[in-house]
Amino acid sequence: MISLRDLTTAERAALAGGGATVLAALVVLVAASDFDLTAIRTLRSVHISGDGSVVETLYNPAALIGLTLIGLALISAVALSFAGLMRLLSMSLSRTNGAGENRDATAKVGHKLERELAKVLEHIRAHIATNESYAKSLANAQTRLAGLPESEQVRVIVSLLVAENERMRQDTSTLKSRLEDSYQQIKSLRASLSQAQESVLKDPLTGTGNRRQFDASMDKAIKDCEQKAAALSLVMCDIDHFKRVNDAFGHQVGDELIKMFARVIDGGVRESDTVIRYGGEEFAIILPMTDQNAARAIAERIRRQFESKRLTVRETNQKVGQLTASFGVAQYQPGDSIDTLVQRADAKLYEAKSSGRNRVVAFGQS
Ligand code: GH3
Ligand code: MG
Ligand code: MG
Repeated sequence: MISLRDLTTAERAALAGGGATVLAALVVLVAASDFDLTAIRTLRSVHISGDGSVVETLYNPAALIGLTLIGLALISAVALSFAGLMRLLSMSLSRTNGAGENRDATAKVGHKLERELAKVLEHIRAHIATNESYAKSLANAQTRLAGLPESEQVRVIVSLLVAENERMRQDTSTLKSRLEDSYQQIKSLRASLSQAQESVLKDPLTGTGNRRQFDASMDKAIKDCEQKAAALSLVMCDIDHFKRVNDAFGHQVGDELIKMFARVIDGGVRESDTVIRYGGEEFAIILPMTDQNAARAIAERIRRQFESKRLTVRETNQKVGQLTASFGVAQYQPGDSIDTLVQRADAKLYEAKSSGRNRVVAFGQS
């Protein structure tokens, strides 16, 4: 039985709409039937007909109540069918969403793993069942043996044990090879799962982290820095006048330059630091255990390394020339959220841009 609490907002709206329609219908009925209030009380209607004579109509109260009930029932039925339809619609929508998730590589591998584990469980259950049947057949044999002469008993026992042992051996070897298969399957699925999980966090162009990775890494970095009372810095950096490069040499060359910038940044930081492609040609560098002076020095080294590159488009031999980038640095302060830290580093990046580009500006320094 569906209760009001089970219904979705749309379904409740449908029911309320049905109710409102009933009320509206009643109001219209009353208005259209020229009732005066005393007539309603006595269930009697008095009107002046076209020729001026007074006409009095008596209403059958049972018929009136019956008609109203039928009307109510009809309208509720329509509203409930609509509610049912809405429920069907919402169920089919949620099924479509589920299929969307299934398309997600991680979810797919996860489901495969679940199925494989279920298979392993099934193999083990089957093996246990076979073992139980051996035990039963040995117990049966024991009762049968009681009726045999002693010399016969030894021969029967030996042949029985040999036969049961062979069955047991075969069954165990089947189980072993099934478990081996499942183990290999699970191993390769686990590898695909971690690959899928990794790719979910990676920017496909540069191979650095993406925004999802940024949130996860920042969360962890902030927790660590609070626990260990250690420093944490964030650098936001962005290639200068990149639009011009894109316009002059095309998007593909632009992409190559973004990759090159990512490589320079990656080469300038430690293993424990995290490089994130934050936007088009904007990167974030998360630097745990690093105060803003050290972070500024790291950013400065990357800036110099990047400006020292002289670039040529290999296919056309066109010279792109020198590119530069600007950097904003901020250090984590107690009470900071990811957003407030990003805002401070971003504000410094903006300062670096507006004060001439190709420079590093740290918090507390303009
Ligand atoms: P500024 O020095 O102020 O940063 O100037 P800018 O031209 O670099 O900055 P702006 O943000 O105006 O332009 C960034 C350009 O980067 C705009 C967009 O066309 C380009 N872009 C964004 N994402 C990509 C990408 O994935 N590949 C390429 N090739 N270009 C991109
Ligand atoms: Mg730029
Ligand atoms: Mg930009």
